[in-house]
Amino acid sequence: MSGSEIRERYLGFFESKGHKRLPSASLIPANDPSILWTAAGMVPFKPYFTGAAKPEVRRATTCQKCLRTPDIESVGRTARHHTFFEMLGNFSFGDYFKREAISWAWEFVTKQLELPQDKLWITIYLDDDEAFDIWHREIGVPESRIVRMGKDTNFWEIGVGPCGPCSEIYIDLGEERGCGSPECSVGCDCDRYLEIWNLVFIQFFRDEGGNYSPLENKGIDTGMGLERVASVLQNVPSNFDTDIFREIMDFTAGEIGVKYGTDKDTDLGLKVIADHCRAVTFAVSDGALPSNEGRGYVLRRLLRRAVRFGRLLGETEPFLFKVAGAIIRQMSPAYPELEKNSEHILKVISTEEARFGETLSQGTEILNRLVQEAKAAGGTEITGSDAFKLYDTYGFPLELTMEIAEENGLGVDQDGFAAAMEEQRRRARSARQETEYLSETGALFKEVRDKYGETVFVGYGTLEAEGR
Ligand code: ATP
Ligand code: MG
Ligand code: MG
Ligand code: MG
Repeated sequence: MSGSEIRERYLGFFESKGHKRLPSASLIPANDPSILWTAAGMVPFKPYFTGAAKPEVRRATTCQKCLRTPDIESVGRTARHHTFFEMLGNFSFGDYFKREAISWAWEFVTKQLELPQDKLWITIYLDDDEAFDIWHREIGVPESRIVRMGKDTNFWEIGVGPCGPCSEIYIDLGEERGCGSPECSVGCDCDRYLEIWNLVFIQFFRDEGGNYSPLENKGIDTGMGLERVASVLQNVPSNFDTDIFREIMDFTAGEIGVKYGTDKDTDLGLKVIADHCRAVTFAVSDGALPSNEGRGYVLRRLLRRAVRFGRLLGETEPFLFKVAGAIIRQMSPAYPELEKNSEHILKVISTEEARFGETLSQGTEILNRLVQEAKAAGGTEITGSDAFKLYDTYGFPLELTMEIAEENGLGVDQDGFAAAMEEQRRRARSARQETEYLSETGALFKEVRDKYGETVFVGYGTLEAEGR
């Protein structure tokens, strides 16, 4: 089944269960300054769960564009993590609850996707006996494949507000995909047990004191990673080998002049480039622009990281905007906005890429020298002020400096970096105040002129005393 077929199958299935199919919301959350990106399918529906807004429907299903920067380091290193990915989800706003959510999820994976039942594992929250009973007694999953897990993975909450236990569906991809450790089991970081679907049962309200009380209007929020499911159904070693990525990978490899699937480091580079470029393409399409702060900084970091991985593969010419072109071609059928915004997307990417390209060689050279100097002096880190200078003058995101330093066995003084940044902010603030002062005095002079007319300076020829 292709990625598009899975997407359609999922949305159609939940439509048949009375859900309204809604379009993906923007990657930039509307009316929510507390978060930079939409990182899950439930984000656009948060007000319905908190009760801040009333939904038009009680059941919805979506395929949501998601961006998760905390996963950036895992990209290409695990088979399953992206920064940008698509999350399929079904939602109940005070409508159906645990029993339906679980049995429909099971029906979908076993009947629609036809995943082998004996390879599926279930996790539940420690004391969620209700979920256990449904999985075990009603669905018939053997007790040996139901694992109770703690709060860190199986309880969803965001401070004060609605929250609740989760239950996840994993598939065992076989010993050969595992890390080999005798402890390897569901929840292990390796690629053997692949988490494909998370069901969140929103049933409590957490108050300021950390007390949980049952919610009257319970809700369901689920999330299934499209690329992961595609990798399982297409029986390929990673998300990057699915039909969703293959053309992008091959295009990038061809552009750079390397081959995908022959060398570990090359593959890592190609995966990072494809991943980050998808994130950048979608983010720019949704209105983000590179800058030095917040969302724009994340965008800049993703783009620059992709360019650097290109350099590591020997690419010195701008290439990322071409990869973005391939992504637009690949993803436009599902996301027509990409085609519509393509000119803008390509322009933003090539401008930023050119800007970074100019300084990358220079900055890398300086950083390499700093690394050599630090090593020669027996040091263990790059100073904060050097890291800041690279950031300020050469546009090196701190994380990039840290990554390059780490590749050389060094750290970076992050506190020193923060202090240098703060010092520069302070300087910028006082410079701004000075400008404001000058413009205030300027305004005063203008007022005087408006009132008394232009004055002519006569001091070159006349002295005050004479004038009198
Ligand atoms: P993992 O433990 O593998 O990092 P997660 O528990 O952080 O995943 P959830 O927050 O439960 O993921 O998100 C719901 C689903 O979205 C996951 O079950 C998975 O299928 C998918 N997913 C989560 N993070 C990513 C990612 N970085 N890239 C691709 N798919 C993802
Ligand atoms: Mg995760
Ligand atoms: Mg998880
Ligand atoms: Mg999860």
